[in-house]
Amino acid sequence: MFSIPEHARIVVDRLEYCGYEAYVVGGCVRDSLLGRTPKDWDVCTNALPDEVLRVFRRFHVIKTGLKHGTVTVMVNHEPVEVTTYRIDGEYTDNRHPDAVQFVSDIEADLARRDFTINAMAYSPTRGLVDAFGGQHDLAARKIRCVGEPDARFNEDGLRLMRALRFAARYRFDIERETAYSIHRNRHLLENVSAERIFSELKGILVGDGVLDMLLAFPDVFTVIIPELAPTLGFEQHNPHHCYDVWTHTAHAVQAIPADATLRLAMLLHDVGKPACYSMDEHGKGHFYGHPKRGADMARDILTRLRCDNATLSAVLTYVNEHDRAFPTTIPGMRRLIGKLGESTIRSLFEIKKADMAAQSTHERAAKVAALREASLLLDDTLDGGALFTLKDLQINGSDLMKMGVPQGPRIRNILFTLLEEVQDDALANTREALASRAEELI
Ligand code: ATP
Ligand code: MG
Repeated sequence: MFSIPEHARIVVDRLEYCGYEAYVVGGCVRDSLLGRTPKDWDVCTNALPDEVLRVFRRFHVIKTGLKHGTVTVMVNHEPVEVTTYRIDGEYTDNRHPDAVQFVSDIEADLARRDFTINAMAYSPTRGLVDAFGGQHDLAARKIRCVGEPDARFNEDGLRLMRALRFAARYRFDIERETAYSIHRNRHLLENVSAERIFSELKGILVGDGVLDMLLAFPDVFTVIIPELAPTLGFEQHNPHHCYDVWTHTAHAVQAIPADATLRLAMLLHDVGKPACYSMDEHGKGHFYGHPKRGADMARDILTRLRCDNATLSAVLTYVNEHDRAFPTTIPGMRRLIGKLGESTIRSLFEIKKADMAAQSTHERAAKVAALREASLLLDDTLDGGALFTLKDLQINGSDLMKMGVPQGPRIRNILFTLLEEVQDDALANTREALASRAEELI
């Protein structure tokens, strides 16, 4: 069950050889027991930080968090974090212990960890240490705090998000007392830094069990993103929909492939709906302009969460474009490729598919067929050769200048006219044809 890779095994063995206790601990023990491949292997030991440095003096060691007892030992170019058994001092900011205290007993170290499934340690010679029922909760598929949940979340508000992330990743339930405590203490997230929240949020979103988390803890998500609060229970009064906006959003998130950018886009795609709602004289609800409004709101939300620029700009495009009707002709598709690019269009197909999967079955067959047509048209258009942007034209600005057009905006205007005519198949994309048409336009 435990196949400890060589780099981690060397660290454990060396500490033991020098007379200390050493265990692999935390996530790698949990994942090994689950039959999953651990991401990284952490080691804990009763050796004090100075002693760890001495044991590994011939290795490259990075003093990652020496004050908190953590160093990173590089073995065969792989990092292994080694942390001295410790207990945490007071948490006055709900996030960082004011001081840590090194201890000699592994159980005391395990007691400071967040969840029972994360509070186990394993040593090839000493076996498994499971003082808080971690194996039981793994078998029962439950996320449960070590100790009293309110106290543990008050120490560190980020643990609320970690609970949801692990539950989403493994499709586990959150044990009742722990779940109540998460609801009760959700305001603690206001004290957690945006970067950490955002990173956990992405972790939750890419989990297989994200739907259950979104449906069970909307109150937590609206602490992080208050703009989502009006979507909760917002009825759509429209035959295309069978859910309120939040429930639709949750199903749409689950329906798209587990990529953080796509899932963020689904989380935010309808955030603009409540603000754009209107009802017509037949009692039907409409949301005119919600993609644009949603993109504006998404910009504020993601900026506040310190989202990186590449993700931000992709999400804004997806939100803004999620409701677009796809072209039905080759010229139309050429223009869309010129505007958005192939890969964005393919992502929009995924978005449309997920959006549809979270709607009522009203006109579904027609919607699915239209999407399939658009996808075939994209392939055909791409097969037809590159006629999408100015650089695909067989003539360029300096050619026009040689023909006597002065430098300036006229050049771009002429090139765009040529491109449109080529895209419409009204003009051949050859130097001669383009030059003679350009003569007429000059
Ligand atoms: P992942 O697979 O996401 O890396 P992990 O369990 O390894 O999961 P890490 O954040 O790498 O999570 O932390 C390693 C271990 O440290 C955890 O298993 C847990 O025992 C402990 N831990 C980490 N963060 C906290 C926290 N905020 N509060 C208490 N214990 C924590
Ligand atoms: Mg880890």
